[in-house]
Amino acid sequence: MDPKVPGDAPEPPPQVAIIQGRQCLAYRSLSCSVCAERCPEPGAIIRERGIPRVDPMVCTGCGICQEVCPAPQNAVLVMPAPPKTLPMNWGPTNHGI
Ligand code: SF4
Ligand code: SF4
Repeated sequence: MDPKVPGDAPEPPPQVAIIQGRQCLAYRSLSCSVCAERCPEPGAIIRERGIPRVDPMVCTGCGICQEVCPAPQNAVLVMPAPPKTLPMNWGPTNHGI
């Protein structure tokens, strides 16, 4: 198999970031916006009153937010993405767990 031939290598499965509220500093009224500042996809992390939320329709699952999260217990999970047809509020990110 020649990896230089387009379509020859299998595509990695799509992934998406999920922010776990229990670990996230911003959920505990501590100022943190590192994930939103470092995310390369405009609109993938939306901050509402300082609380970050991932838009799974925009997130590419690159994992940068997970790498840079400074919380003592990393607040970001990168998981297999749901089908893009699911509603934006899919996943535990938006339920504050
Ligand atoms: S970088 Fe981590 S702790 Fe900071 S807001 Fe993002 S998920 Fe929360
Ligand atoms: S995984 Fe990448 S694209 Fe998705 S929210 Fe994190 S930094 Fe942004």
